[in-house]
Amino acid sequence: MKRIYLDHTATTPLDPRVLEAMRPYFSDTFGNASSVHWYGQQAKTVLEGAREAIAKMIGAHQGEVYFTSGGTESDNFAIKGVARALARRGKTHVITSKAEHHAVLDPCEHLVDEGTEVTVLPVDGNGLVNPDQVRGAMTERAALVSIMHANNEVGTIYPVREIARVAHEGGALVHTDAVQTTGKIPADVRELGVDLMTISAHKMYGPKGIGALYIRKGTEIDSLFQGGGQERGRRPGTENVPLAVGFAKALELACSEMGAESTRLASLRDLLEKRISKEFKDAIVNGHPTVRLPHILNISFDSRRLPLEGEVLLMNMDLRGIAVTSGSACTSGSMQPSHVLLAMGRDPKTARATLRFAFGRSNMEEDVEVVVENLKEILALMTHAR
Ligand code: PLP
Repeated sequence: MKRIYLDHTATTPLDPRVLEAMRPYFSDTFGNASSVHWYGQQAKTVLEGAREAIAKMIGAHQGEVYFTSGGTESDNFAIKGVARALARRGKTHVITSKAEHHAVLDPCEHLVDEGTEVTVLPVDGNGLVNPDQVRGAMTERAALVSIMHANNEVGTIYPVREIARVAHEGGALVHTDAVQTTGKIPADVRELGVDLMTISAHKMYGPKGIGALYIRKGTEIDSLFQGGGQERGRRPGTENVPLAVGFAKALELACSEMGAESTRLASLRDLLEKRISKEFKDAIVNGHPTVRLPHILNISFDSRRLPLEGEVLLMNMDLRGIAVTSGSACTSGSMQPSHVLLAMGRDPKTARATLRFAFGRSNMEEDVEVVVENLKEILALMTHAR
């Protein structure tokens, strides 16, 4: 059975060129980058080279990039770190949106227990937050505004630059989660005007377990961990040199291939959207119709025609070798409809009858037809079985 992977927002396979770049640093150059001897200094030089390369590709200075274990840690670091540091100056208000990833929403919720006021802005039918909403929510105590660069479920791209301007006028810092955008669309910290930006390697054909947080020079932030002086004292723990090298290589490749690859992915996505809209008259496309990532297509099927969970649809697709994601997530042992789709106004039944297709480097035009044919068969079987 030929397998088709259409879940590139969840993770991507490691690029063989990245693996090759990383290989020597697992064994030959194995030193601890904090050691003062030759082995350590060799590792340190390589680590700083990777940091410099990453910084350059996101428009930052080398000293503004802090390695972490991935997107989740970077989001936690940015949100809790800034909120805790600024709370000491009476800045106890954080603003975010309902469409954020749980790696942002959950730390915000956690901060409520520490006495922080958290405003979670609603989104419109396309999943968007606009700068005026942020302006309306600002208070004198606003410490941080955290709005993602683009949404991982529906692909909508946010007006981060304009939001950052509004937040700064009101005296707050700005964080953006760019996990789904770096390497896919330009994500430059100075262009976006943000103070903090989260990135993660495994969404761009890099290794799992490494990410980074851009922290603009001079930003007040508390560390999440204590224990050593690594990462200029802000993120202690022995640095992972091979993963940092892989991260830099993956970002370099993604950025250099971005133009052609994004155009190719957008044409695959558009083709699938056209074919699904033709075959399934009641299919609804979720997300902004134009301001969206090139590789994500999120479709809800009319819940009256498809009385089953998207999860069942997903499993049937999987049995036929097609890997996609549904509009539900397993929370406390039961399937809950996506919080993003609910925030966009979809009813719970429709939100459940949703599939997300996320294209990537391995996908070809012929995959689209295989997906449509299998979907047709599965939906016919499901409808028949009612
Ligand atoms: N933020 C967004 C928007 C994501 O899509 C993800 C992962 O899917 C994360 C954060 C978490 O990143 P990581 O898997 O590197 O912890």
